[in-house]
Formats: sequence, C-alpha cells, structure tokens
Amino acid sequence: METYDFDVVILGGGPAGFSAALYSARGAASTAIIDVSMLGGQPSNYLELENYPGMKKIGGFDLMEKFEEHADMFGVQKFPMQEIESVDLVSNPKVITTKEGIFKAKSVIIATGAKPMKLGVKGELEYIGRGVSYCAVCDGSFYQDKVVAVVGGGNSAVEEAMYLTKFASKVYIIHRRDELRADKIIQERAFKNDKIEFVWDSVVEEICGEDLVSYIVIKNVKTNDVTNLKTDGVFPYIGMLPNVDNINGQIKQDARGFILTDETMKTSLDGVYAVGDVRNTPLRQVITAASDGAIGAVYATKYVQAQKEVAV
Ligand code: NAP
Repeated sequence: METYDFDVVILGGGPAGFSAALYSARGAASTAIIDVSMLGGQPSNYLELENYPGMKKIGGFDLMEKFEEHADMFGVQKFPMQEIESVDLVSNPKVITTKEGIFKAKSVIIATGAKPMKLGVKGELEYIGRGVSYCAVCDGSFYQDKVVAVVGGGNSAVEEAMYLTKFASKVYIIHRRDELRADKIIQERAFKNDKIEFVWDSVVEEICGEDLVSYIVIKNVKTNDVTNLKTDGVFPYIGMLPNVDNINGQIKQDARGFILTDETMKTSLDGVYAVGDVRNTPLRQVITAASDGAIGAVYATKYVQAQKEVAV
C-alpha cells in the first residue's frame, strides 16, 4: 500500500474542499483532496445555480468542474472514490488510511459536508431533481406559480416555506404533529402568510407522478385517513446530518454532530479545521462553503508553516 506525505489533506471534494485546496496549494503547501465518492460534492447534483456571484446561471456540475480545474492549476492531488478505513486526527502527523493508501498530513481540513435527512418514502429518491428538492434557495424559482409542499415543522421547514412563497402560488407545510417546533417568531410570520396552508398531524406516505411529481399521498396520523394532495414539488426539511463517520469523538461537535469551530475554522484539535456544511454554521450554500474553505486553508497553511519552523 502506498504512503503519501502532505502538508494539508482535505477530506471532501465539494465547494468547501476545493476552495480550501486552491488556497492551500496556492499558499505553497503540498495539498491533497480525498473523497469517498466522485469529486464535486452536493452541488454536482443541482440542476442550476443562480446565486453564485459572478455566475448568472450555471449548472451545478459545471460550476464544480470549474472549481476542480482551478485547484488543478495549483497542483492539488486528487484521490476520489476512496474507501476510508480510519482517520486519526490526534496523532502528529495526522493519518488517514484508505483501502488504497496511507495519507500523512501536518494539517487536516474536514470538508465532508452534510446530507439532508430523507423521508424514506416511495418515490422520494426517484423524483430528486424532478419535483423533490432539499434546497429551496437552489430550486425555489423553478416553482413560479406552482404548488409545493414542505415537510417538517422546524425552523428550516417554516423559513424555507416562507421563502418558497416568493415563487409558488401555494405552499403546504405538512407536519407530523399539530404544533410546530419552529421558533415562535418564525411561526407567527408563517401563520400570517396567506400562501401557506398547514396540513397538521400528517406524514407523507408516497411521492407520485409521471415524469415529474404531480401529487403526494399523505396520511393523517390521528384519523388514519389517507388522501392525495396535488403538488408540483416536495421539499423535505426534516433535519440535516453531518458526514462525520470516522471523525466522531475526536473533536468537539454539537448535539447533532456538526463540528464546532472558531472564526478561523479551527476545531478543538490543533491543526484540524472544519469548513462548509459539516460545521455548525447558520447558512449552508456554495458561497458560504467556499468562503469557509478559504479561511480554513489560510489558517491551516499558517499552522503548517509554524510546524516547519519548529522542526528546523
Ligand atoms: P429540526 O429543528 O430538527 O426540525 C425537524 C422537523 O422535522 C421537526 O419538526 C420534526 O418533527 C420533523 N421531522 C423529523 N423527522 C421527521 C420525519 N421522519 N418525518 C416527518 N417529520 C419529521 O431541524 P431543522 O429545522 O433543519 O433545524 C435544525 C437546527 O437548525 C435547529 O436547531 C434549528 O433551530 C436550527 N435552525 C435555525 C434557524 C434560525 O434560527 N433562523 C433556521 C434553520 C435552522 P417534530 O417537531 O415532531 O420532532
């Protein structure tokens, strides 16, 4: 098995990871990106983005290709499709072991992202990108004058439902209880919004349609009544989960597992930084992930430089 030595190893090849890689390699640190799947991260699956500054409209895949090409320009080494066996962030150097190699790093930047919790119902996976979306900010404008259903009762569901009323003619909020979890102030705003209709005590049982979503099957959990609700889009907002397998327990995380950092993106461990959706952050967008990556890499490379100076 091959052993590699890098100044900075970045876990995760999405916008946060590629931005970090660009700043790290351009800062003269030898840099590698390791990903468990193809490079590009979550945006690779977005049909279009129209909120990345400078790009009026660009396919998610195309944008991430540009991120990758930019990192290539500075000699970032890329290791996609790695099956990770262990991540030791405590040792010095830090060691990431995959099925294919041992990666030693003076500094590690965690950019592994987060995944939306899935409803786990029939039709959900089949209709992703064809009516099912986990990102109102990314996809809301595709639902101009259409009907959409948001699932969940937390702050994300209610805030995103309000955001969707900018475009949609009607927004259902389908919640499994008769009381929202969202903050009172957010609830009050939603109750005042004429475009929002609440469907209480209900869960989605199936997402249906032809080529695109056209209706969902919902069940009232109190009466057990099952009905079809016409909708063009479904936005499940039932929580996000960080991708922290192999990392859990080594650094400080919040109750849901998101990594806690300071303003330099440093985690509770020296030389370990966390950037993008995997960290405890108030906004999860390509632009914020890229921004985190830049900050984290600048401080990671400063850390690496200091380590090198101590060594001589
Ligand atoms: P959340 O607060 O955990 O809410 C998830 C919602 O989805 C809950 O209403 C929950 O129902 C429902 N749910 C969970 N699993 C479900 C399932 N399998 N089927 C149907 N419904 C399900 O998640 P979030 O809204 O993503 O927020 C996450 C955190 O970020 C929270 O701490 C939130 O306050 C914070 N946040 C803050 C802001 C803000 O301050 N502006 C904005 C967004 C998020 P129950 O209520 O019955 O459990």
